[in-house]
Amino acid sequence: MRRVVITGGAGFVGSHLCRRFLRDGDEVVCVDNLLTGDLSNVDELLANERFLLIRTDVAEHLDVPGIVDAVLHFASPASPADYLRLPLETLSVGSSGTRNALELALRKDARFVLASTSEAYGDPEEHPQPETYWGNVNPVGPRSVYDEAKRFSETLTTAYRRYKKVDTGIARIFNTFGEYMRPDDGRAIPAFIGQALRGEPMTVSGDGSQTRSVCYVDDLVEGVVRLLDSGEPGPINLGNTDEMPILALAELIRELAGSDSEILFVDRPVDDPAVRRPDITLARTLLDWEPRTPVRTGLERTIRWFAGQLVETSPARPWAGPSRVGGTGPGGR
Ligand code: NAD
Ligand code: UDP
Repeated sequence: MRRVVITGGAGFVGSHLCRRFLRDGDEVVCVDNLLTGDLSNVDELLANERFLLIRTDVAEHLDVPGIVDAVLHFASPASPADYLRLPLETLSVGSSGTRNALELALRKDARFVLASTSEAYGDPEEHPQPETYWGNVNPVGPRSVYDEAKRFSETLTTAYRRYKKVDTGIARIFNTFGEYMRPDDGRAIPAFIGQALRGEPMTVSGDGSQTRSVCYVDDLVEGVVRLLDSGEPGPINLGNTDEMPILALAELIRELAGSDSEILFVDRPVDDPAVRRPDITLARTLLDWEPRTPVRTGLERTIRWFAGQLVETSPARPWAGPSRVGGTGPGGR
């Protein structure tokens, strides 16, 4: 049994990691300020005596009493809509937050894993993207608050490895989807599923020819666990190689949801990457990892979960309405 600290543990990916480590028999310390996460993602875990929730802003302060074997730093707004409305918070958690998480790993002699992102490649000029590609990021564009924060996080992580001998690993995570995504987080998959289930127009940006390669969350979590266990420094791409235009993704979701929503073409965001697909040769060879779940299967599961949420929240708590627990303050079990 090991003791794992997961920053951002009440978010989408973080809450899946919490469940996975608990299932594996480990102890989990989830650290989150609920900025873009939701207490309901982990409330079923609160009764587990191997689970501890600490509500705090990791950009301000991060301390965890007792032994810590691993620190997984996943705290950060991740949806473009979230980081565009929370620019300074995103920069803080990617800079001070990453430093505090690395200092915790240093103090505890723990392995550290950073959740970096395919956005480190920006609007890529090399396709697909191998880890050796340095990227094409506009440092003063609207997305830079996220992209550059993550690139800085990678640099900080590498410096702690090189100069302070912290055992670090960097995962460059590509678009991931699944249960426990916030229905109103603005990312393509939750937006399309919500719209399809409600019979509303599906908002495809531009002409929908821009591509993404989407990975089901269980596969991603397996990759993160393998990176943690491997001792590899990375960066290592984790994502699905099954690339598709966004319009095709919207049409697939509409079909799987049994919806007759129309497609509504809307403005494309500034600096929206035109293509994205990981080269996962490194993950295959070093971690013996690749996604196992077909996109269709992952989407079916996700749509089923969202449909359940829709029933639960209707009509007293409307689908995309404010359903989040607010407030900060000291945490507790
Ligand atoms: P999310 O918004 O659902 O989760 C992020 C969590 O971090 C939330 O619970 C939020 O409250 C918490 N958080 C944010 N700032 C914090 C702070 N200062 N202190 C404490 N907690 C804070 O996003 P997600 O999709 O689960 O992403 C998780 C991580 O994975 C992020 O670091 C993101 O950059 C990375 N990532 C995700 C994807 C993806 O497709 N989901 C792709 C690439 C990288
Ligand atoms: N997108 C869209 N409609 C939406 C939300 C997103 O067409 O309602 C597009 C977005 O412009 C981008 C792609 O879908 O081209 C993926 O966007 P997302 O926000 O999911 O993540 P990103 O890969 O941009 O971080």
